[in-house]
Amino acid sequence: MHAVVVGAGIIGLATAWTLADRGWAVTIVDPRPGEGASYAAAGMLAPASEVVWGQSPLHPLMRASADQYPVFAERLAAASGHDLGYTQTETLVCAADVADMASLRELSALQRSLGETVELISGTSARTLEPALGPGVSAAVRIGGDHSIDPRRVTAALIALMSGSIVRRHAVALVSDGRRTRGVALDNGQNIQADQVVICAGADTGSIEGMPDVPVRRVWGDVVRLSAPQRLQPLVTRTIRALVRGRAVYLVPRTDGSLVLGATTREDELAGISAGGVHQLLRDIEQVVPGVLECEITDVTARARPGSPDDLPLIGRVDDGCVVSTGYFRHGILLAPLGARLTADLAAGEAGDAETLSIVASDRFAPATRKEERV
Ligand SMILES: Cc1cc2nc3c(=O)[nH]c(=O)nc-3n(C[C@H](O)[C@H](O)[C@H](O)COP(=O)(O)OP(=O)(O)OC[C@H]3O[C@@H](n4cnc5c(N)ncnc54)[C@H](O)[C@@H]3O)c2cc1C
Repeated sequence: MHAVVVGAGIIGLATAWTLADRGWAVTIVDPRPGEGASYAAAGMLAPASEVVWGQSPLHPLMRASADQYPVFAERLAAASGHDLGYTQTETLVCAADVADMASLRELSALQRSLGETVELISGTSARTLEPALGPGVSAAVRIGGDHSIDPRRVTAALIALMSGSIVRRHAVALVSDGRRTRGVALDNGQNIQADQVVICAGADTGSIEGMPDVPVRRVWGDVVRLSAPQRLQPLVTRTIRALVRGRAVYLVPRTDGSLVLGATTREDELAGISAGGVHQLLRDIEQVVPGVLECEITDVTARARPGSPDDLPLIGRVDDGCVVSTGYFRHGILLAPLGARLTADLAAGEAGDAETLSIVASDRFAPATRKEERV
């Protein structure tokens, strides 16, 4: 059996790897593998600190995928020989002032009610753990189960494993025989035939001709990479997240000593880096880890997160020959092990986790007649 996977972000690559592992021949189509949203991502694997009010179906998915991460990362590191920058060090969520402390306290109650282990500590205790925290930090929450990985290293490892299968072209359209998808048409006029086409094109999923309406939208994020001067290293030893007058900001230390500062969330038309966004990130992190302003900026990136109406992924069958997997929004790195397995199960026609698949069904927002209209 042969699958064409369109999109070599973390979701397409991990799905392709899973299918290849199950004996499928796989072709991956992407003009710029690994350079979509996955290139910008900070790589926080944070099922507890990503909890927000009103998103109860999302947390079990995040928790399930987080539980699969140690095995996923170990298998990928062993198969590729790459260091993925995976660390199981805890996360510290800080409150920049007293009002933020009240929000943090409410959020930690919600996290606890969902079964996460979180511990509220004073600002002084937080500074004992991380001396670089600023004097204004009034309290913090320790979250032992929120970890991180370097997404650029993850995609590089997957690309290395799948390199012989990657075609660096744009897929412009689905190829159909009128009843079902039979392959994809590329921007050089070639067609690739396949038993299954798997669309993992992130925020660009809607641009492929023949695809049904998938309600995915671009939610831009700006992110800054930094390097601390030798005298300040390590600036922080665990992921620092914070609320600064209600705005979220984070600083993720990488195993190579670099730091990732993120991230804005904007739905404007600016496809490049937002000057105001970067200014805001630096202003907010100054309240929490002032030493960041003494660091060197090594990289600034803006990419579009593939957002869905309810922030849950959109995974489902388009027709007998095509599956879609997108809408991972701000959790695609965390959700990759789970999403890749669900997508591969669906593509391969294997009995998967039907309950989870119904929660993430790609046609859950479409009227009942929609599928008929598409045919
Ligand atoms: C600033 C920022 C920070 C983030 N931080 C985190 C984090 O800490 N933790 C976390 O879990 N998630 C995070 N995310 C979210 C995460 O990055 C995404 O959810 C995830 O990368 C989505 O993966 P994907 O493979 O679906 O999409 P992408 O990585 O965008 O990949 C899609 C691929 O499809 C290709 N493509 C598109 N159209 C076509 C076509 N027609 N033909 C061929 N190829 C095509 C693109 O070139 C691209 O390579 C962050 C995102 C951003 C922007």
